[in-house]
Amino acid sequence: MGTIVRHGVRAEPAGRGRLVFSSSGIPIRAPQSAAKQNERTASLITSATRIAKSSIAKSWIAESLFATLFPSDCRLCSSPLTNISRLPVCEACLEQIEPVEGIVCAICGEKIQTTLAQNNRAPLCGLCQKKAPPFVQAAAYGSYAGILRDLIHLLKYDQIRQAAKVLGRLLADAIAGLETNFSDNRVVVIPVPLFKGKRRQRGFNQAELIATAALKLGNPRRFELQTALLKRVRPTESQIGLTRHQRRENIRGAFGVANKEGVTGKEVLLVDDVFTTGTTASECARVLLRSGASKVWVATVARTQKAEAQKIEVSTTEGPEALAIAG
Ligand SMILES: [Zn+2]
Ligand SMILES: [Zn+2]
Repeated sequence: MGTIVRHGVRAEPAGRGRLVFSSSGIPIRAPQSAAKQNERTASLITSATRIAKSSIAKSWIAESLFATLFPSDCRLCSSPLTNISRLPVCEACLEQIEPVEGIVCAICGEKIQTTLAQNNRAPLCGLCQKKAPPFVQAAAYGSYAGILRDLIHLLKYDQIRQAAKVLGRLLADAIAGLETNFSDNRVVVIPVPLFKGKRRQRGFNQAELIATAALKLGNPRRFELQTALLKRVRPTESQIGLTRHQRRENIRGAFGVANKEGVTGKEVLLVDDVFTTGTTASECARVLLRSGASKVWVATVARTQKAEAQKIEVSTTEGPEALAIAG
């Protein structure tokens, strides 16, 4: 006597995202009476129905079904995706993104040691104490590290445009921190431009995508997005390994205002993905003020803190592009 196998549609082996409901394919040992077989099948059906009725099972079924139809892993941690989102990043990763904490420079947002900040109402970092930058204030949502840095890279280097929506939400948060200081007039929002060759190569300007996503969340009458007022008139060399002075020289003259009337007498909010050393923001602010802007503010999704900036400067794993834009 051998083994009797009931034929039918074989269930897929149990694994990630596979549905295993059918009792078919279960080997049943002989000899076994037909009555016993029916009894066994009936009991299997009853327990399967009981499990399917519980809400846990329902959500498991929905998740498994989703994973089966749209199989994909989180691009940052490789765990299977179960959330219905066009962004291939899991909730657990997104939840790790945190705002900058602690005391920061009132102008540039650099982290300040508490001991230095204690007796200072508007604490300034050493650099801003020496020479204040041309912009009024720069605010960033989080530190350019961990998941936030990865998410920015997904957008910039892997062309995952859906990341702009999440980054836009964070930028909107950074803007909200500055907003109380804006005048009542409409603020002109200018994303830091890319040189046209780089824009063509990437297919988009990440600062523009993030700014657009951020402004959708705010009052449309408060802001006016202008993507053609500021131009990058020449490409810049990589900023890696350059001193602060060399960075300034490298970027000087890289930007120009296309239409002065668009900025004259206006308050400008410059936006970008990352604020690295502030060289780019300062140069853009200088050019905008020279063209008549009344004030320039800066908002970015992320900001490198000094220790992290130094790490990036000496890092050889980071492509030169990363700093050329962020600079
Ligand atoms: Zn993940
Ligand atoms: Zn500062």
